[in-house]
Formats: sequence, C-alpha cells, structure tokens
Amino acid sequence: MIFPVGDSSPVQTLHHITHSRFLRHDTGSGEHPETPARLEVINLALGGCLDRLHLETIAPKSAPRTSLLRIHSENYLLRFEETALAGHSYLSHPDNQLCYETYEIALLSAGAGLAGITLAEETTGPIFCSVRPPGHHAEVSLALGFCFINNVAVAARYWQEHYNRRRIAIIDFDAHHGNGIQTAFEEDPEVFYISIHEHPTFSFPGTGFAEEFGTGPGWGATLNIPLLPGKGDNEVKEAFLRQITPALDRFQPEALLVAAGFDGHRLDDMSGLAYTTELFGWLGSTIAELAHRHCQGRLVSILEGGYHLETLGASVLQYCQGLTKK
Ligand SMILES: [Zn+2]
Repeated sequence: MIFPVGDSSPVQTLHHITHSRFLRHDTGSGEHPETPARLEVINLALGGCLDRLHLETIAPKSAPRTSLLRIHSENYLLRFEETALAGHSYLSHPDNQLCYETYEIALLSAGAGLAGITLAEETTGPIFCSVRPPGHHAEVSLALGFCFINNVAVAARYWQEHYNRRRIAIIDFDAHHGNGIQTAFEEDPEVFYISIHEHPTFSFPGTGFAEEFGTGPGWGATLNIPLLPGKGDNEVKEAFLRQITPALDRFQPEALLVAAGFDGHRLDDMSGLAYTTELFGWLGSTIAELAHRHCQGRLVSILEGGYHLETLGASVLQYCQGLTKK
C-alpha cells in the first residue's frame, strides 16, 4: 500500500467506467446543454488528481436486450432504434436530440452500470460511471429530459436478478426528480427510491412531491425530498440526517445505486439550487459510509446531470474523493 508524504490516507483505486464512444452522442448545434464536453471535463478532472486516487478506467459492454426489456417496452426500443437509424434529429421532443449512433451509445451507457455492479461484487473500492446519454427521466416507453434508456433502473433490476441482491436502494441527488426511476419501481417494495431535488412546482419534470410515497405494495418505498429554490448544503445535510439515513436504516439495503447528478451546483443554471462544490465531497463520503454500514460497501454511482462545465469536473472529483473516505 502506498502512503503519500505528509498524509496518512492510503491511495485508493477509483474504478472509472466510461467509453470514448460516449463523446459521439451528438446533441446538435452546440446549444444543447447535454454536450460531449461534459465528459471531457470530468475525464480531465479525474485524470489530473493522481496523488490520492489511482484511476483505473474500464470500458463497458452494451447492456443486453434482456436487461433493457426489464424496464422498457419492446415497441419503444424499436422506435428509438429506428428513429436514430433513420437520421431524425430527436425522439419525441426536441430536448432528446439524437444522431445515427445514439441508440448503440445508449446501450453502452446502460452497460456501464452493469459493469459497475460486476465490479462491486468482485472487488472493493469506489466505482463511478461517467456516461451519456443520462437516464433517470426515461420512462417505460418515453424519452424525456435528454434521457433514452433508464441506466439506473436497468442496473437495479440487473443487480437483483444476476446477484440475488433483493433489496436495492437508489439515492438520486440530481437537481431534478428522477420520474422514470420512480415510475419503474413505485409498486415494488424491494427497490427503495430516494430523491432529493428542486421542488416540482419550480422545476422539470414536475413530479417528486413529498406526498409521493409509492403505490400498492410499494407504498413507503419511495421517499421524495423537494427543496425550494435557493436551498443548498445545509438542507441537504439535514435531509440525510433526519430522513434519508433513518429510512435506509429501516430498509436495510443489500446494495446501493446512486443517480449522481451535479446540476444542483449554485453556478449551474439548470436548477435554482445552491449547492457548493464541497457538498459533493460530503455526499460521496456520507453515501459511502451508508453503503459500508448496510451492504459491505456495495455501491455503484452513475452520472446523470451536471451542465456547468467550469464546475462539473471539480464536483465529480470531490464526489469520487468523498467515496474513498468511509
Ligand atoms: Zn438534472
């Protein structure tokens, strides 16, 4: 084990799951916020911090169709593939820009989470998936909010079915509510979806009110924590202390997935939230601690939003460094 001079903390390996093809999902004119440059700044930030983190980059394989079909309808997958191959510029709404390669790249994006799960079962150390397109707004048969395949939802089912981890918790700290994840599991008592986001009255997609707890047998396995515009680090920390940690203590997850969105940053104009860069470090260490307490550290984080290119790299780096401090 290597110890840096003047610091007692050991160097840890960060398993960074990403692929150069993610840069080829072309969202058009340069006006679209979900741009390849997002991954470029993340790669630069993670690659530039080798004193505390040894970066091991792993290329994923495409998610198999059987895994996609656990969340999405066959008709939708066909429509998505045909729309991309036909050369159309968007699917369902101009927000969801695509290019000829987008379908294949989206399958690779979903595959990153599955590669992360295999690693989480076989090794120790933090795992971060830098992917695009993102996923948490994608519904069973609908592309929404830059999302086509619901990467985190596909991963949750994969974890259950391939490793028999029945009780999966998902923490979504993207500034927007992950409507697609909530819909996928709202009747399922074994997948606990927790989202902290800007209040739906003020924010896309307009779901995620505190009164949404899940339905039928899944009632109580959804926890929404909406924050008013302008709220920041203190409210997030308070929510973890008073709501999220006790809820996870009751649920006792066997594995933990994170929908890691960085658009709550105070400089990111995709939300009115006011998170600092440092908050993401705190989130990383707090979530890693929860994963060690409940599920022997089985934790996979998958990128969602984050559009302010000057702070995104530093925010992801802080989060990944936080993951190493349990
Ligand atoms: Zn977002």
